[in-house]
Amino acid sequence: MVFENAGAARVVRIGIDIGDLTGFEPDALAFCLEALIDPTTAAGATIDLVRIPGSGFCHTCTREVALARRYDACPECGGLDIDLRGGRELRLRELEVE
Ligand SMILES: [Zn+2]
Repeated sequence: MVFENAGAARVVRIGIDIGDLTGFEPDALAFCLEALIDPTTAAGATIDLVRIPGSGFCHTCTREVALARRYDACPECGGLDIDLRGGRELRLRELEVE
């Protein structure tokens, strides 16, 4: 296993990016992760969640705009022709081991 080959004994920090448009509640995700990693070599690891704000490109007013929810209208012009650009991420950013 790569983890063991790296000479690592345990995971001390787990960095996760979580987009505001994913529908996941960061506190609930952290709670579930803590329970999942409890019987593993990651038990007690710090869970570092970084929220990624929602954003999109509005084709009506041709602007990059902030979005609080996935299907919100453009806050500038009210248009609905929006390509989501940020906030859909849910990814493991880093894993710190020792
Ligand atoms: Zn717009």
